Amino acid sequence: MKPMNKETALIVFSGGQDSTTCLFWAKKHFRSVEALTFTYGQRHAVEVQMAEKIARKADVPWHHMDVSFIGKLGRNSLTDSSIVMDQEKPADGPPNTFVPGRNLFFLSIAAVFARERGINHLVTGVSQTDFSGYPDCRDAFIKSLNVTLNLGMEEQFVIHTPLMWIDKEQTWEMADKLGVLDLVRNDTLTCYNGIAGDGCGHCPACTLRREGLERYLKRLKG
Ligand code: ZN
Repeated sequence: MKPMNKETALIVFSGGQDSTTCLFWAKKHFRSVEALTFTYGQRHAVEVQMAEKIARKADVPWHHMDVSFIGKLGRNSLTDSSIVMDQEKPADGPPNTFVPGRNLFFLSIAAVFARERGINHLVTGVSQTDFSGYPDCRDAFIKSLNVTLNLGMEEQFVIHTPLMWIDKEQTWEMADKLGVLDLVRNDTLTCYNGIAGDGCGHCPACTLRREGLERYLKRLKG
């Protein structure tokens, strides 16, 4: 086991708005950054290619891992195209776009992957503010998992969540301050229908993203 390198961070990187903003946040705060992208059975394989492209643009080493079993374990509309996607959060629980265990698996795998490289800083773009009803985006879950990972591997991992307490408007602001607003706007994929940039415009992910951007641009002008 190599000694921990406190100045390198590993980011769980999907190539969407949030994790791309976090990638550039991490580049600002750590000496070096590496990105790890997962294939988890998502409908749109193009997501992974876009993540690779962004990592190359950002000059960050990019790793990819196939964990498609995650999408098959729990039924959800992001990995099963026979299920009609919920457009809103139902009153009785998470929407069917919720992939059960996704962040639990991603961060656990990322921690093992990081440990092998002597990295103890992990970065993820989850947010409790705009959490869309996904329980594994909440701060309590991340803190609890952080403790569990440290106990389970006898390490001192630190999970960084730069977007935890900010909304989509403020996430655009952060991208702008990091000098990557155009890159995030044009090169990332957030849309549930697999359309890059401004997306399809009407799926729940596009709506959240678009409304945040409109609010931010309006505030800039105001
Ligand atoms: Zn969309």
